[in-house]
Amino acid sequence: MAQNALIVVDVQNDFCPGGALAVTEGDQIVAVLNRLIREFDRAGAPVIATRDWHPRRTSHFNTHGGAWPPHCVQGTAGAEFHSALALGSNAVIVSKGTEENADSYSGFDGVDSQGMRLADMLRQRGVTRLLVGGLATDYCVKQTVLDGLRQGFEVVVLEDAVRGVDLKPGDSDRALEEMKRAGAQVRASAARNGLRQILQTEVSATQREIFPYAEELETAERAATAAGAAIMGLFKGQYDVQEKSKNNPVTSADLEANRLIREIVRARFPADGWLSEEDKDGGERLAMSRVWVIDPIDGTKEFIEGVPQFAVSIAFVENGQPKAAIIFNPAQGQMYKAGAGLGAFLNGQPIRVTAREAIDGARLLVSRSEPQRKFQVFVDRCELKPVGSIAYRLAKVAAGDGDGTLTFRSIYEWDVCAGALMVEAAGGGVVDGSGNDLVFNQREPRHRGVVAANPRLSRDLQGLWQAALEQQK
Ligand SMILES: [Zn+2]
Repeated sequence: MAQNALIVVDVQNDFCPGGALAVTEGDQIVAVLNRLIREFDRAGAPVIATRDWHPRRTSHFNTHGGAWPPHCVQGTAGAEFHSALALGSNAVIVSKGTEENADSYSGFDGVDSQGMRLADMLRQRGVTRLLVGGLATDYCVKQTVLDGLRQGFEVVVLEDAVRGVDLKPGDSDRALEEMKRAGAQVRASAARNGLRQILQTEVSATQREIFPYAEELETAERAATAAGAAIMGLFKGQYDVQEKSKNNPVTSADLEANRLIREIVRARFPADGWLSEEDKDGGERLAMSRVWVIDPIDGTKEFIEGVPQFAVSIAFVENGQPKAAIIFNPAQGQMYKAGAGLGAFLNGQPIRVTAREAIDGARLLVSRSEPQRKFQVFVDRCELKPVGSIAYRLAKVAAGDGDGTLTFRSIYEWDVCAGALMVEAAGGGVVDGSGNDLVFNQREPRHRGVVAANPRLSRDLQGLWQAALEQQK
């Protein structure tokens, strides 16, 4: 079940009318926040209040080269919370901006009175979703929301509980748009039943009865969202590239995405097995029935080339069969989701493989780098379209964006595990080059060739695959 926390950002005197850095109508959110605080206290859910807690001298102030007039200096009346803000005795106070050389707009830069960082404290309390209100929409609220998403939390911005500076007219609206694009929901808490509805949009017991892996799927989606944000922060930017082996690069984006996915999945399912392209495989997973199979970026070469054809691939496997899968292309904003027996979805809409029965004229998605000569028999009869990342190709086939995909390569489980479920849940069939069903969490986690399409086409394609392989001998 989603565990909610309320984050009240910087409702301090200096940000309210009469203060050193006043936000117009900043005090008008206090009543809304007080109602939310009461609701959270009643539900026993954490309430966290962040505060700017600056030293007298800091490069954050225009007196020392920064952008802002001095405000919220430790121990002054301006730094105190608005006097009408009714924080209960259980509220946790997080202080930020305490250093002399940092702006620290984000609550995630702050620590509680014990020195614990906000993200660690939330995880320790099992929090998975943040409801955020406070000041100011276009600065500290925005940075706190974006960091929350990067850290893998679901985030709901309460639009009636925030106000902005609007240094330039429209700054607040643009900030809300940016938060939405990054994956935040923007909702009104005061709308009729608003808060109740927000709190209930979670994996309910009923949903679990319909789909027993709802929690795994929700966790995978959250992890993919966080990984995608980290990846896009580096896409076409500065990152390290190393060669793991010939023609097999890894970047700091792969490693950071892997770290985030591992942290988010492990926090929820600490006892499950693990197989990731970017982690050493100790083989412990072989003794486990529940295993996560991860490729933090499939299509690293495309990522490096600046081609938006790469994807985060996350699959949950039980007894060798994928049960929940996410393939997320963050550069195109495409979130593919599948559950065994549940179906497959692209950005929330059901998807299905194409119904084509004839190989002649079929549109096949193929690798951008696999030697074309291998595909001669297909070139003669089909239309071949190069697309990066086999995980992404499988997702596209699931969505009917291409009739099938195939490769002659020996591919790892993490490349195709989520994609195999995606295609199957969308009504298609997936086999290895020899026509066998794929089984996952194997000692040698590889398959020799993969063919995926609708069930009719996949059999015929596999026959051609076999024939093509014979010819190449
Ligand atoms: Zn400040």
